[in-house]
Amino acid sequence: MLGLEHLPGNDALKVSLRTALHRRFPQAVLLSGPEGCGESDWAHTIAAALLCTGAGEHPCMTCASCRKMAHQTHPDFIVIDEGDSEIKVDTARRIREEAAILPNDGERKVFWIAHADRMNSSAQNALLKVLEEPPRYVFFLLTACQPGALLQTIRSRCTLYQLEPPHTTPIDTPELLEPARIFLSALARGEEYGMLLGANGFAKANKATFQQAMTILCTAVRDAALVSSGCPPLLPALATETRALAGALTTAKLLALYDHFSLLSRRAEVNASSPIQCAVLAAGAYQIGYAPRLDVSTSKRLNKNGGNTI
Ligand SMILES: [Zn+2]
Repeated sequence: MLGLEHLPGNDALKVSLRTALHRRFPQAVLLSGPEGCGESDWAHTIAAALLCTGAGEHPCMTCASCRKMAHQTHPDFIVIDEGDSEIKVDTARRIREEAAILPNDGERKVFWIAHADRMNSSAQNALLKVLEEPPRYVFFLLTACQPGALLQTIRSRCTLYQLEPPHTTPIDTPELLEPARIFLSALARGEEYGMLLGANGFAKANKATFQQAMTILCTAVRDAALVSSGCPPLLPALATETRALAGALTTAKLLALYDHFSLLSRRAEVNASSPIQCAVLAAGAYQIGYAPRLDVSTSKRLNKNGGNTI
C-alpha cells in the first residue's frame, strides 16, 4: 500500500482528496479512469486514509490500522471484486446487510466495489438506498472504467473523481540512463561500491540534470513498489532493474528510497555540489536498503556493556 504522495501523477486529484480528507469525505465516491490506471492502488490508499487512526497526513502508514491495510487484514475494509463476472443482486443485498453491522475495529467501515460498472441493473437498484443514506460509519468506493454503464441514479449519488492514465516518464537526457541502470542494479544486489559508481555518473550534472536523475530514480523505485499490483511501469527502459528491486526490497524500503531521492532533488535547489550529493545519494540509499537497524533492546545491551550511547 502506498501513501497518496507516492501514487503516480494525478496531482489535482490528490489535492482534492487531501482537502476532502481534512474536511468531510463523501460517503459514496465513484473513481473512474481507463483500464490500467491503477484504480486498485488508489482505492486501497483512499480506504487506508479513511480508516487511519494516526496523526498528521492520512494514511500515516504506521498506525495499527495502516499496518492492517498493508497486510490486507483490516476487518473494516470490505472488497467486492467479482473479476470479469457480472455483479448480481445477491451481492448487492449482502453489501446492504454488511453495511448495517457496526465496524469491527474503529469508527468507520469502507466498502470497495471494484468493476462497479459490471453491476447489473437489479444490483444497482438494490444499492441505491444505502448509497443515498449510508449509516454514518460507512464509506463506499466504487471504481469503474466505464462509468457510463452505471445508472444515472447511482452516479448522481456519488462524488465523482476522475483518474488520468499514468504517463510514461520521458527521459530527455539519455546519458542519465546508464548510470541510473548501474546504480539501481547495484542497489538491488546491495552492493554499495556499485551504487557509488552509478551515482558518480551524475557527478558532473548541472542542477536541472541532477534533478532529472533523481526523478528517474524516484520513478524506478515507485514502479518497483507497484510491480505486484500489475500497474504498467512508467519507466519501461528500466523494467529489469525495477523487477530486481521489487524482489530485493520491501515496499516500505522502496518508499523510503523514494523520499531520499526526492529530498536530494530539493536540496539541489540550494546546494548544487554534485560530487558530495552523489556520495550522499549512494550512502543514504545503502543505509535505507541494507544497514541493520539497531533496536532498543540492542541499544540497552550496548550501554550496559559500556558501549556507545546511541
Ligand atoms: Zn495510519
